Amino acid sequence: PAAVLTIDGPSGSGKGTVARRVADELGWHLLDSGALYRLVAYAALSRSVPLDDEARTAEIARTLAVRFGADAGGNEQIWLDGSEVSREIRTERAGDGASRVAAIPAVRAALVARQRAFAQAPGLVADGRDMGTVIFPEATLKIYLTASAEERARRRYNQLKDKGLGANLAALSQEIAERDRRDASRPIAPLRPADDAQIIDSTSMSIDAVVARVLELAAE
Ligand code: C5P
Repeated sequence: PAAVLTIDGPSGSGKGTVARRVADELGWHLLDSGALYRLVAYAALSRSVPLDDEARTAEIARTLAVRFGADAGGNEQIWLDGSEVSREIRTERAGDGASRVAAIPAVRAALVARQRAFAQAPGLVADGRDMGTVIFPEATLKIYLTASAEERARRRYNQLKDKGLGANLAALSQEIAERDRRDASRPIAPLRPADDAQIIDSTSMSIDAVVARVLELAAE
């Protein structure tokens, strides 16, 4: 089996950026599992499927026609049914929708095999909420990355601004708090560190420092 390094944590903890950098450094594959839940929510919203319709959202998850890639400049591209939607799925609306469909057991079940299929040689860096607890319980190294709520809201705000997506810091803080509460309290795959996870609090760490720490742990 391929080596797997999991990075779980709440929104805005920096895990997306860290996972991508670590994957680049190691020359490993990358799984952005949150993008899958965002895609399910985005597809449901575009087809006017209510986000609490368990049968229809699960059907969307089962049949999701997605392709991950990058443009010539190395920027991420995500194709859903022939449209490039990487920007559309990064909105708070898609993030909020993602956390709603992510609480539906049939949606989660429909995405398990698709996620495990990313574990290919030479290795995989998997970013999400349940990578170490549910999807890859046998992972070589499990990281749980966190940061204070204030710092996470600030990072998310800067990220959205960088993508040219509007954001309001106070509203964002509330939305993130709400989403974390939903992610941590759902009965299925709640957000929590795996028992054998290494916890890194990145509140006062730079991205470079977090990446260096993860690579150090990966080399042990
Ligand atoms: O990480 P990201 O913000 O893209 O994730 C969006 C939402 O998808 C999360 O708030 C969470 O509800 C859900 N998610 C999940 N399990 C994962 C990844 C994301 O439930 N492995």
